[in-house]
Amino acid sequence: MLGLTLALYGAGTWALLRSHARDELDHRLEEDLGRAVRGAAVAADGTVWWRNPAEFARRTSDPSRGHWAEIWSGEGRLLLDGATSQPLELGPVPSTHELHAEPRSRRIDGRRVRVMARLQPIDGQLFAVRVAISEEPMHHRLGDLLKGLAAAFPLMLGLAALGGRAVLGRALAPLAEMARRAHRISAERLSDRLAVPEDGGELAQLAAAFNEAFARLEQSFGQLQRFTADASHELRTPLTALRSVGEVGLAPGKSAAEYREVVASMLEEADRLTRLVDALLQLSRAEAGRLALHVERLDLGALACDVAQQLAVLAEERGQQLACDSCARAEIDGDRVVLRMAVMNLIDNAIKYGRVGGRVELATTTRDDGAIDVAIRDDGPGISPEHHERVFDRFFRVDRDRARVPGGAGLGLALARWAAEAHGGRIELESTPGAGSTFRLVLPAAAR
Ligand code: ADP
Repeated sequence: MLGLTLALYGAGTWALLRSHARDELDHRLEEDLGRAVRGAAVAADGTVWWRNPAEFARRTSDPSRGHWAEIWSGEGRLLLDGATSQPLELGPVPSTHELHAEPRSRRIDGRRVRVMARLQPIDGQLFAVRVAISEEPMHHRLGDLLKGLAAAFPLMLGLAALGGRAVLGRALAPLAEMARRAHRISAERLSDRLAVPEDGGELAQLAAAFNEAFARLEQSFGQLQRFTADASHELRTPLTALRSVGEVGLAPGKSAAEYREVVASMLEEADRLTRLVDALLQLSRAEAGRLALHVERLDLGALACDVAQQLAVLAEERGQQLACDSCARAEIDGDRVVLRMAVMNLIDNAIKYGRVGGRVELATTTRDDGAIDVAIRDDGPGISPEHHERVFDRFFRVDRDRARVPGGAGLGLALARWAAEAHGGRIELESTPGAGSTFRLVLPAAAR
């Protein structure tokens, strides 16, 4: 590009100078014309002669510096001519066209000359006067300029290339450093960061963007590691229980009823293990985006009451009243199985954590913005504000020892939140410690 720019610049300069030089020659032609007219005189017999013959007399044999003048009669006869160098045939009698045309560049006898002819009065009579001037000096000067430009061109290009390389090298050095650092960052060294240049330029923005990406990666990686550790821990608890119950069963001298109890106990632990593995599987599939939703039109209020009815036995066991209010039409487009699972986890929690002998209420309403809202309210211990966000994290339990009693692994709310978000909705939590909790499943209403 630089080469092209330089070439264009050179060509432009050359063309401009040539045009200027031609203008200057034309100006001198005008002067020569004036000098010829003033310098010529007409005798009484009609002959024409130079008043000052030295004006157009031969002064040099160098044809490249010549001036020429001719005076023609109206009948087309050459009456007088003069030249400051070797004489030159400027052509036949000037035509009417030539007498009115702009000066012209011509090549005569191998010499480049600029020629102009005009009709001029000399001593009261009209004559065709033709003057010419050599263009050779102009072409020499332009040729020299062209040679200079041609010689400077590769030099400038070379200098620009070297300069460009040096500047780019300096500008890109931080990029090379970034690449080296990035190579060193691995799963084990995710806390490493790229150096951010202090100038705040594009490279600094790039480094900052990479660092943010690394921070997010580090966070996800940490989450993954915690998830694996938590999952192993959760799986170990029922396995240990299974093992210890089995060992108790192996002790000699047990009655048939005692053996039955041991087996029932082991089955219970196996059940818990199955539920846990199912939940884990569902969650990991959901997060990998491999759980396809089978969307159909359904009434969310009716679905919630249906689930509540199914769980009524659990509420009864805890002496709780379970009320469901679903009179509002609450149609949405969603996956029945996934939404059942979400609502079931929420009602199950309300029953598990609700007061013994208390009340669990379900209410489905349509919000002003058209969203469908299923509220599940309990009168349990509530959740303190600092835990509102974290209860949705996997394996999080507010009170680990207390929560183990109802048997949760801390996956229910994570699954419920995923289900809501997969349907373009969310779960909202309102709770004051000591005054119960309300979980709201808010989903967009079905398009009409
Ligand atoms: P879990 O299987 O332990 O119930 P969840 O993900 O469903 O797991 O809930 C996470 C934690 O949030 C629970 O362990 C409990 O501490 C708290 N929690 C959930 N629902 C309620 C509720 N209705 N009242 C009080 N605490 C709750």
